[in-house]
Amino acid sequence: MSSSNSEPGFRPQEIQQLLKNSVDAFAEPQLAGTKEEPPVNKKPVDPTNFTITPLELEHHLNQFVIGQADAVSILATKIATHYNRMRLESQRPELPHILGNIKPNVVLIGPTGVGKTYIIRLIADFIHVPFVKADATKFSETGYVGGDVEDLVRELVHVAGGDIAAAERGIIYIDEIDKIAAASNTMGIDVSRTGVQRNLLKIMEETEVDMKVPHDIASQMEAAMQMQRTGKAEQKKVNTRNVLFIVSGAFQQLEEIVRKRMKGSTVGFGKNLHRVGSDDNWTENIVAQDLVSFGFETEFVGRLPVMAKLIKLGVDELYQILRSPTSAVVLGKKRDFLAYGINLEFTDDAFHLLAELAFAERTGARGILAVLERLLLPFEKYLPGKVTELLFDEEAITNPNNALERILTHSSVLAYQRKMLFDHSLTLRFGAEAEHWLLEKSRTSGIAVENILTELLKNYPYGLTLLGKSEIDITVEILQNSQRFLDETIRTTFAKREEQIEGNE
Ligand code: ADP
Repeated sequence: MSSSNSEPGFRPQEIQQLLKNSVDAFAEPQLAGTKEEPPVNKKPVDPTNFTITPLELEHHLNQFVIGQADAVSILATKIATHYNRMRLESQRPELPHILGNIKPNVVLIGPTGVGKTYIIRLIADFIHVPFVKADATKFSETGYVGGDVEDLVRELVHVAGGDIAAAERGIIYIDEIDKIAAASNTMGIDVSRTGVQRNLLKIMEETEVDMKVPHDIASQMEAAMQMQRTGKAEQKKVNTRNVLFIVSGAFQQLEEIVRKRMKGSTVGFGKNLHRVGSDDNWTENIVAQDLVSFGFETEFVGRLPVMAKLIKLGVDELYQILRSPTSAVVLGKKRDFLAYGINLEFTDDAFHLLAELAFAERTGARGILAVLERLLLPFEKYLPGKVTELLFDEEAITNPNNALERILTHSSVLAYQRKMLFDHSLTLRFGAEAEHWLLEKSRTSGIAVENILTELLKNYPYGLTLLGKSEIDITVEILQNSQRFLDETIRTTFAKREEQIEGNE
């Protein structure tokens, strides 16, 4: 008989295996060394020796983030302070607990694709803390539909490779927070949204989150294993006191609220009014009270003492992102091409044009990826195996078919040149005009460039050997009348030779 603690239907070894395969978050400490490292945050921050200063963090971010100087400055400062303070408190436990202390949780306000997630990810990666991102829309008050906000904390443990202490110093990022604001005209949804805010409030302040979830089979199995090994159920809890919360959203309807408030207080804000009316970056004028008017509970806003506003990226910023050697989007596309042995480069003109097209997408820097994916697709499809270099220029954007055909023609010519050199030790040189002629010929005839060359120059290996030549410039003239040109060259060469022989006799 198996132990009454094991799950019915599973042998202990099977449970072990199942757990090992699927439940990283619940891994036993002794397994930690053998487990695969989590993808990011390899060395969780050690609060006892965290010494990164705001300026160091800002400097690091500035190597990646274009624009957004204000938000970068605020986030670098507040997050560095948060972790330095954790160091201080772990070094000096005698310091009295500050009742009612509020962490520097952050609300990020800004349109899509302007760097909100990017900046937080960069920070979490740089300071090596576990990081979890989720959309507020996936939570419901009860947790029955969608997720439970406490899942975020458990997920943090998972990302930290089961290291609860590391998870307790992690960062939880919740996007689309504006979607859980209570809109005044939709009562039904309001109750639930306010409920989600309250649930979040709990973990944002301080709470102990149980790693064991009643409806989660994996955690139940882990508990069963625990019981089997130790005879007692171990409670694993994660304290959220030091977990930093970043919430973000576009807060589109907030614009109206800000405008109204500022109109109503023209005395104090008269100067700014003009700016609000004419400026795209109305977010500069947001104050905490506007978030309450927007539909957030006062307590919820109270737990978000730091506000950072990110501004819309203009064409110039998008151009700079494209040019940046650290740009993830461009590096990603280059890597795609490198997977086919193609070295992808862009001309500066192409970057300018791409920035304009990306701007028109109205999705911030995300537009860059959308545009690159769209414009590079035909090249990504047809060039693998054909070329080792691709210089993506203006023509590739304005006339992609032509650019692609030109590149493919060049590649066919190169292949033909290699073949002639390899098979017949002949060096054939083609100028740009000759390649253009071949392209046109291929277009009008529907015959592949390599086949045209093979047909037109089929007698050249023999003919050139006859002439004692090992290299030739292939011009448009030759291509137009290849056979006649060869015949005439042979005829005149031999006539000359005969004359020479006769002259010598
Ligand atoms: P969101 O503001 O919606 O969170 P993201 O931060 O996810 O947008 O941006 C998407 C991608 O665009 C990032 O991963 C990054 O590659 C690029 N990006 C966005 N904003 C910037 C920026 N200000 N500087 C450099 N790259 C950026």
